[in-house]
Amino acid sequence: MEKTMDILKEKLKATGFKITPQRRAIIEVLIENENSHLSSEEIYDKVRANCPEIGLATVYRTMQLLDEINGISKLNLDDGCIRYEINIEGEENHHHHHLICKECGAIIEVKEDLLEAIEEKVENMYNFEIFDHDLKFYGKCENCQKKK
Ligand SMILES: [Zn+2]
Ligand SMILES: [Zn+2]
Ligand SMILES: [Zn+2]
Repeated sequence: MEKTMDILKEKLKATGFKITPQRRAIIEVLIENENSHLSSEEIYDKVRANCPEIGLATVYRTMQLLDEINGISKLNLDDGCIRYEINIEGEENHHHHHLICKECGAIIEVKEDLLEAIEEKVENMYNFEIFDHDLKFYGKCENCQKKK
């Protein structure tokens, strides 16, 4: 956890930004809620508990900044709400994929990549150099399956 904060601090510094108390509070919320995929509004609500003077605009700007320095990844579920999570590129872990339950909205992480072979095939077929991919599976989670 401290390590993630240090890496982000370094990334900010390298791009000429300082870590202000408000930025630090936002990053802390993101680290504490790892794997929760929070929206800007949810981040704002949580940061306000410790940092009541913060404004929603500061949260928006900070998320934009963290995105620019590749410190977070965005999850867009096409419901008009973008969710964020810490994702430090350069750490050899490839970003995980997501299972999205259409009934309850649960977001489940797929830790395995499983796509390397497909990437290689597509690269060869289309002579296209792939940098990354982003995968979402839509369906019904275990809990929702039990309800019927
Ligand atoms: Zn995720
Ligand atoms: Zn569900
Ligand atoms: Zn993947």
